[in-house]
Amino acid sequence: MNVASSTERNWLAEIRPAMREVAPSGIVEVFDYGRGRQGLIPLWVGEGDLSTPSFISEAAKASLDRGETFYTAQGGIPDLREAIAAYMTRGYGAAPGGGAFAPKQFFVTIGGMHAIEIATRLVTGPGDEALIPSPAWPNFVGAVESAGARAVHVRLDQAGRWSLDPQKLAAAITPATRAIFLNSPANPTGFIATREEISATLEIARRHDLWIIADEIYGRITYDGQRAPSFHDVMAPDDKIMFVQTLSKNWAMTGFRVGWLEAPPALGPLIENLVQFTSSGVPVFTQRAAIAALNDGEAFLAGQIERCRRSRDILCEGLLATGRVRFFEPEATFYLFCAVDGFDDARALAFRLVDEAGVGVAPGTAFGPGGEGRLRLCFARDPAEIEEATRRMARWLKA
Ligand code: PMP
Repeated sequence: MNVASSTERNWLAEIRPAMREVAPSGIVEVFDYGRGRQGLIPLWVGEGDLSTPSFISEAAKASLDRGETFYTAQGGIPDLREAIAAYMTRGYGAAPGGGAFAPKQFFVTIGGMHAIEIATRLVTGPGDEALIPSPAWPNFVGAVESAGARAVHVRLDQAGRWSLDPQKLAAAITPATRAIFLNSPANPTGFIATREEISATLEIARRHDLWIIADEIYGRITYDGQRAPSFHDVMAPDDKIMFVQTLSKNWAMTGFRVGWLEAPPALGPLIENLVQFTSSGVPVFTQRAAIAALNDGEAFLAGQIERCRRSRDILCEGLLATGRVRFFEPEATFYLFCAVDGFDDARALAFRLVDEAGVGVAPGTAFGPGGEGRLRLCFARDPAEIEEATRRMARWLKA
């Protein structure tokens, strides 16, 4: 029988047009191109080279050995929600309005991404707009577009540091605006919103009755010994803010897929519905691992930050010495977001670095407006390997 393609169904025409228009991740594009290359040093994806510490994995194994392999509570197991509340009270002093954080404010999710997805769906839909300070991690746009809403980029400024101009944020608001995403410290720029920038954003949200979706997952990966400023520091209990958190980065747990959404407890039934209809819950053994990380993970986190600091210094110093690479030294996160003189096309540059220098980087174009001509390099790796990657890039730039 003739299997001519003309008779084949056009599957793409059969799905909702909005789904076809969701932009693919430009990070994944380069990653897919270079994945598996012999000897390549991968700085493209937002994760480190360490596997999860054994005290965390052991907690997962013990859970499996106990037979905790059943469906579970949609909001998360009570033990984890309690551990999160205690961890938050330790880190932030008190909940907004005073007192300890309460377990009912926290909803366990499949990583931070699932928390973003749920928060986005709760407050935006077709016809709505959400503001995203950019350059930004592409998954915010992905979540907004998947919900059928429109992502509106608000460019960060670069006056000696990445910074957010509240006027620009306010000017982007229309009657369709429903939410402001604020990721601080930010992937990919390392932008840390100051307390003033956070307060100004909150004022704008209050004035226009908007939600804030605060992604503070890198809040503890800072190089000045302090956690980054947070909306928790300035908000009132009835402010419309949802927080995204994850175990992924602090405790080398990207593959565990466990995080949480912090939201007003009154939204609990709706959030638990969305958990039911998207994942039907988070595996219990990963939740047990999360408890171990939150309760006993401080030493590991401190060690990770020190290792990242050494790698950051090697990378920044080496690239600066080439005289061709420009950036603000990151004071938080584990990303360097840099421009290379003489290269405007970041996507082409990223492909060339894979082929010719043996280094995998993410093109700035993947992060929306403001990312043109830039690269993101993740330095959460062994300092010796970062030294080699720096040498390779410096040599390539000299050639
Ligand atoms: N927010 C930001 C800013 C991120 O960079 C990431 C991971 N790259 C996430 C959320 C989500 O992390 P995960 O889903 O692995 O918990």
